[in-house]
Amino acid sequence: MSNLEQSPAEIVCEGQAAPGAEILTGHTVALGGPRGMNVTRTLPSRRRRMIGPWCFVDAYGPEVAAMRVPPHPHTGLQTVSWLIEGEVLHRDSVGSLQVVRPGQLNLMTAGAGISHSEESRETVLHGAQLWVALPEAHRHQAPHFEHHADLPVFEGATVIMGSLGGVTSPAAAYSPLVAAELTVDGQVEVPVEESWEHGLLFFDDPGSLHYFGPGHRTLTVSGRGRVLLIGGEPFGEQLVMWWNFVGRSHEEIVAFRRAWMDGSGFGQVVGFDGAPLPAPGLPTTPLKPR
Ligand code: MN
Repeated sequence: MSNLEQSPAEIVCEGQAAPGAEILTGHTVALGGPRGMNVTRTLPSRRRRMIGPWCFVDAYGPEVAAMRVPPHPHTGLQTVSWLIEGEVLHRDSVGSLQVVRPGQLNLMTAGAGISHSEESRETVLHGAQLWVALPEAHRHQAPHFEHHADLPVFEGATVIMGSLGGVTSPAAAYSPLVAAELTVDGQVEVPVEESWEHGLLFFDDPGSLHYFGPGHRTLTVSGRGRVLLIGGEPFGEQLVMWWNFVGRSHEEIVAFRRAWMDGSGFGQVVGFDGAPLPAPGLPTTPLKPR
């Protein structure tokens, strides 16, 4: 890891000039409130809300930081935690207690509702958290959690979710999608589904996410460093996203928020030293699907 950190990112995304390709610029957000560690959020962005079912991309580090995100709720999504360096402890309301380390996947399927906390010692942290929106047929399911420490590999790429080059991850997925970590040293040609859209997140330059619309059979990445490939079939449903909830209407989000504040519907996170996160106030105008 130290070699990569010492050398500047030199990744050139050859497909970037292709029709439909665009660079989504990230913005800085304090995770877990204004005193939390900073993350770079590239999705949703002003220009694009989703890439396939992927509706949220936060990248952080490498930096020395302590992650501390008190218990908070989720609905209608999966959280995907992926580290390049460091370790993060996950607790949730279905009784999970699991450290995630580099090369491992922590995957939490919120379904109808779950709550969790995430914390780390003060150490070098480098990684990402992504959300996958669950389609209507699967978003009301019972919440569950998976940890995968032994993910399959296709030509040097770790297949985190979905399939790449015919190699399939054991992680639960509820719509056609892919996530894979590529280690690029020179040039890598990645086979992708032509009808899907894709994104490339460069871990050495977390400020940007490169978007590719449908119409590519391969993506060519050259340079050196770690790259996260995400993609999927364009998501056909309109979401209402607010705070940690993914729903379909303003009314639904209001009900999720009320349930969390009432202490109902999201279970209990056991063992976290501190109070749960209160939900922020709702905006004065109705939340709109987008
Ligand atoms: Mn969360």
